[in-house]
Amino acid sequence: QAEAEARERALPARTRDGHAVAVGANVNNPEQVPFALDQGAEGVGLMRTEFLFLERGDTPSEDDQYATYSGMLKALGGRPLIVRTLDIGGDKQVAHLNLPREENPFLGVRGARLLLRRPDLLEPQLRALYRAAKDHVAADAPTGAHAPLSIMMPMITSVPEVLRLRAIAEGIRAEIGAPYVPLGIMIEVPAAAIQADVLARHCDFFSIGTNDLTQYALAIDRQNTELAPEADSLHPAVLRLIHMTCEGAARHGRFVGVCGGIAGDPFGACLLAGLGVHELSMTPRDLPGVKARLRGAEIAALKALALRACEQEDAAGVRVLDAEGAAA
Ligand code: PEP
Ligand code: MG
Repeated sequence: QAEAEARERALPARTRDGHAVAVGANVNNPEQVPFALDQGAEGVGLMRTEFLFLERGDTPSEDDQYATYSGMLKALGGRPLIVRTLDIGGDKQVAHLNLPREENPFLGVRGARLLLRRPDLLEPQLRALYRAAKDHVAADAPTGAHAPLSIMMPMITSVPEVLRLRAIAEGIRAEIGAPYVPLGIMIEVPAAAIQADVLARHCDFFSIGTNDLTQYALAIDRQNTELAPEADSLHPAVLRLIHMTCEGAARHGRFVGVCGGIAGDPFGACLLAGLGVHELSMTPRDLPGVKARLRGAEIAALKALALRACEQEDAAGVRVLDAEGAAA
């Protein structure tokens, strides 16, 4: 029985009509990797590096970070790993960084905006990542969706941010002599989703952060418990932004992942696959349910479902499609 379940968890998330969706886990340290693989992860679609800073009372050194990233690469044995550079600010405050207090931290110096202002945070992190790439990634390793290491920048709003971050990263890579590491961006601000076709020229892949994309699209603080029931990532406005992101990426042949909470919801995963998302990354324990649901679906039906969902008036209307079994 247990063996049969383990075999099922290891099956790919391939729909009945043969469309494969890549599935990854959101994992922050090497110790969590074996459990994620056992749950059926094919890689790590989001490593939130804030946790390196939050779990301790001081700033981890470049060498500390190198050890963690190397540990992740070793634990994954060549499976894809997407490391997100520091996303501090908003809900992720780090006391020992002594950052200025802001009235509206979610609309403030957060993610990429902080990285560009604080080379003392960005540069050691990038050096640690490229050193890990140099030591643990083969020079002829794939550079697309199957790259053993990719770097992803959080809270991107504009093209100049991407160009500046890429220039800094490539400068450090050249200095270290590391192999090419794909550079992607989080799509979690509506402006980025709307301009996805333009941003796609300048980066290798997208990962949609539906937690923040929902917050910023619906103007609901993601920590506001009073409004939590309304902060639904299946709101048609959010789905339309996801659709725009996939279409913008497709124009330039870029792959699109989703690493926000909705990727771990079986019905949400069906909608995302139908909208054109290639990879879903989630909490490890959500993997078996999502994979089983996708295996029972047909991509042609999911595409039709996704279009119907985008036409609904509200999130409740989208959820009715699940109750009707439209994704079966
Ligand atoms: C998101 O915003 O959906 C996301 C994955 O990033 P985080 O939850 O870390 O902000
Ligand atoms: Mg986010």
